[in-house]
Amino acid sequence: MTLHSVRAMRDDGDFAAPARVGWAEGRFVLGGAPRPGDLDGAGLWLIPGLVDTHLHAAWHAFDTADRDRVSPRMTLQLTAEALARTLAAGVTSARDAGGLTLAMATELPEDARPRLQLSVALIDRAAAAAAGGLVAAVESVLEGGARWVKLVATAGVAAPAGADLAPVFSRAEIGDAATRAALSGAGVMVHAWGGPAIDDAIEAGAMSIEHGMYLTDGQARRAAERGMTLVPTLRIYRLVQRMIADGSLPAAFRARVDEAVDVHALAVRRARDAGLAIALGTDYGTTAQHGTNRLEVDALVAAGLSPQEALVAATRSGAALLARVAADPAAAPDGRIADGSVADAVLLRADPRIPGALSDPAAVVAVIRGGAVVHGEIPDPPVLPDPPVLPNPPTLPIPPTLPNPITPATPSTPSTTREDAP
Ligand SMILES: [Zn+2]
Repeated sequence: MTLHSVRAMRDDGDFAAPARVGWAEGRFVLGGAPRPGDLDGAGLWLIPGLVDTHLHAAWHAFDTADRDRVSPRMTLQLTAEALARTLAAGVTSARDAGGLTLAMATELPEDARPRLQLSVALIDRAAAAAAGGLVAAVESVLEGGARWVKLVATAGVAAPAGADLAPVFSRAEIGDAATRAALSGAGVMVHAWGGPAIDDAIEAGAMSIEHGMYLTDGQARRAAERGMTLVPTLRIYRLVQRMIADGSLPAAFRARVDEAVDVHALAVRRARDAGLAIALGTDYGTTAQHGTNRLEVDALVAAGLSPQEALVAATRSGAALLARVAADPAAAPDGRIADGSVADAVLLRADPRIPGALSDPAAVVAVIRGGAVVHGEIPDPPVLPDPPVLPNPPTLPIPPTLPNPITPATPSTPSTTREDAP
């Protein structure tokens, strides 16, 4: 399938002049002379498939107790629906940050969900203890099909008020986890709001820092030197603030969350200025959140990234992170629209650099995964801006037909219908 005159995103997040972009056998084919059968991409924008590097596809409530009340069968159904909405939003690859098991993932039809990498279960101090030690817990998730070992290295939202950034694991422990993960070709992702846990994640060989709102300039620089990625999750904390405001979460969380929201944008700018890769992550884990992933792109812009930088974070940066642990690197998407790249893409009806354009629920024309249209359809003829609405032609009142008692009534001439109107 080939589009002509479509504007495709370049590696820097800007857009090339309208050109011919197609795909065959799951890979992009760029350029060439227009041919009969090309679809008209004029007025459309093509971006690489979005990558959400931090979500919880199998969570459908904020609270663990609420999640545990849902039956496995219902959880599977809700997860299938959540991932279908996520794919329809343009997310063609996702990293599950805990909750989604391989058994569940394999039950979900491949063409109705993003490509998935799993971490299976979060490993915090209690999980490590329950498994008989951190390395045993790491081995357990790896045996369960994890490509990522998710360590909870600082407290999160639900910590007691006044909880600080005390590290949960020692640097040596994170190092042991990273070494064990690497033996299986897996990576370590570290939930760390800030403090020594970030230093330990950097020095111990973790691949990504999750949240990281208290990241310092020095940490950002060292993480950049190690080729790491920061996954800020901006919007989720705003949603938590709303849940506190409407009483669905305890007011005791408020001080900690308010402060986190205040500093999160600063961490994003620190990372950008230090050359630390930033990848989009939503941390979504409720039914209402799943499928609204594009809103996080706007959140990155609101935090201080340019629209181009936010688009790179939402595509190429995430793809590069996930490619580091891909089971088959040659088959991994690289988040680029380039000759020979895996054809994961989102076709849009508006320029995604315009503020709010991506947040528009109607922004997506079609989602392409591995060269297959998995959501929407590619229009033929093309989507054009709506024509101006012309006033209706005046309709004349139909004269009443008077009965003629002498001659039979002749069939009346049909009045002009709207279709006939010039
Ligand atoms: Zn999370």
